[in-house]
Amino acid sequence: MIKLSQPIISEESIQAVSDILRSGMLVQGKYVEQFEEALKKYMNANHVLAISSGTAALHVALAALEIGENDAVFVPAFTFPATANVVEIQKARTVLVDVDPFTYNMDPDKLEEAIINYNEKEKPKAIIVVHEFGAPANMTRIMEIANKYRLYVIEDAACALGTKLNGQHVGTFGDIGCFSFHPRKAITTGEGGAVITKNEHLKKKISLLRNHGLIKLNDGTMDFLLPGFNYRMTEFQAVLGTHQLSMFNNWIKKRNELVNIYYQLLKENPTIQLPDNLEGHAWQTFMVVIDSTSNRKAITKCLKSKEIETNMGAQAVHMLSFYNNKYQYKVSEFPIAKKLYESGLALPLHSNLNSDDIKYICENLLLFL
Ligand SMILES: *Cc1c(COP(=O)(O)O)cnc(C)c1O
Repeated sequence: MIKLSQPIISEESIQAVSDILRSGMLVQGKYVEQFEEALKKYMNANHVLAISSGTAALHVALAALEIGENDAVFVPAFTFPATANVVEIQKARTVLVDVDPFTYNMDPDKLEEAIINYNEKEKPKAIIVVHEFGAPANMTRIMEIANKYRLYVIEDAACALGTKLNGQHVGTFGDIGCFSFHPRKAITTGEGGAVITKNEHLKKKISLLRNHGLIKLNDGTMDFLLPGFNYRMTEFQAVLGTHQLSMFNNWIKKRNELVNIYYQLLKENPTIQLPDNLEGHAWQTFMVVIDSTSNRKAITKCLKSKEIETNMGAQAVHMLSFYNNKYQYKVSEFPIAKKLYESGLALPLHSNLNSDDIKYICENLLLFL
């Protein structure tokens, strides 16, 4: 089976994880610090904190910014639902913004329109920008809009480790950047995540929130400064993360080569729409959009019979039952998100594939179409 994605775990990593398991020092210690240092260097970030998952990273970001029940947060209508779920968990109001049909990212014009037209009782407080599938969102425009309307910016870079905009790593533009190291993402620690920030105060707050609000005092006793979560990472996850990160530049290079082959083989077909081949894209996922006359379910089934795994890309949040019931959206309200949800087709992409695999996938896809 050609898998949609596949984590690559070296024997060396397995050995390093086993060594830590044998040592008995299992939770948030020197290996977590090493992983944070490595991430910091890689992204040229000011502060990095390892967190137990991408969703926990987003949640702790909102909690640190004290986003709560009197606040509204602007979120792209096409994303993995965790982006919006954390807003709801904090009892804030989710305000959806439609996306661009070619980058799949929040459309800045529609964001500004949504801010101007907003008239609910909760106060606009933040924007969560998603760098969907590793494509850099238009942070230049989004930061301008955020500054104009005095909104915090949280970057959901769960899919976007290695993604750059004008040479700068995404996650470093806004107030807080959030990453995921789930096996479906670019590097993995099993479950895992990270937050990055320029702001010293936010870093301190997040580090308290990550660990029960606990601080160790100079006299060796401890105190609890606020009610926190347990969103710590384990040592064996962190060592795996450090190993993964050291190989990551090669993986991105390979992913780019494979995506170029996809483009060459698929670009002539009028029934497939390819994503904008953006500068700085890290290609966590390669999602094409099929013609509305083609049936995605049938394509997925046919390709599966050829040993090729495909899937949908991400969700249209307004069409999920919780959001649809709570906010009473019309399905037609976010037409691009709807289209991408219904017609997006994620094709296999990981660095264990070679050019022949991509040719085989494209041949079979084109044959079906
Ligand atoms: C994967 C993902 C998340 C959640 O990350 P987890 O580590 O699985 O909790 C959040 N947002 C986006 C855009 C994602 O793709």
